[in-house]
Amino acid sequence: MNMIIMGPPGSGKGTQAARISENYSIPAVSTGDMLREAIANGTALGREAKSYMDKGELVPDKLVIDIVRERLDEPDAAEGFLLDGFPRSAGQAVALGEMLAVQGKKIDLVLNVALPDEEIIRRLSRRRVCPKCNAVYHLDHRPPAEEGVCDSCGSGIVQRNDDNEETIQNRLAVYRQSSEPLIEYYRKMGLLAEVSGTKPIDEVFGDIAALIEERL
Ligand code: ADP
Ligand code: ZN
Repeated sequence: MNMIIMGPPGSGKGTQAARISENYSIPAVSTGDMLREAIANGTALGREAKSYMDKGELVPDKLVIDIVRERLDEPDAAEGFLLDGFPRSAGQAVALGEMLAVQGKKIDLVLNVALPDEEIIRRLSRRRVCPKCNAVYHLDHRPPAEEGVCDSCGSGIVQRNDDNEETIQNRLAVYRQSSEPLIEYYRKMGLLAEVSGTKPIDEVFGDIAALIEERL
């Protein structure tokens, strides 16, 4: 199955994407993770993307579309994939439809994880991530077993550059303007399924799994 997971920053879509990927054995393709990796590796793409990401702006469509196209061409995406953080603009949604059509593929399900604004800010400001394996923690709800250390790989966990109050506000504004309209776009296509992101991680995953299984 080819899926998209959408939702505002902090909705927990990255955490859910990892669960879905593991449970259904399909790769989770996160543009945010791929871009942060490019920055960490100091590639040309990373250098260009960094200035946008630090401000909470969208990286230009062309750059993001190219990395997604390359990633979806990898053999592990042949039997299904889950896109996390893409598409985020109308241009990206159209480009995705086109790149899949060329391969005789289509999107089967779009999950939208909803979360109120106050909760978004509360979550993001207390979020910590592992720069090595991308595991996500929260200082109150999901702290690592040992303070400051990733449970999965033992690296030091950090606060993302764009998880500061000012950038969070901008990311929210950008989300409302560019990404939220895509919810309607996919609803009209009959692909949208909505879940509430306010529940505990396991319950959100249970809701998602039920939606996926209806369509398997
Ligand atoms: P979140 O959803 O928590 O805000 P992501 O890790 O998905 O975080 O994205 C972080 C940043 O990476 C975005 O604010 C944006 O600058 C950039 N980015 C990620 N995906 C895209 C995309 N599809 N198009 C443009 N920019 C993107
Ligand atoms: Zn780790």
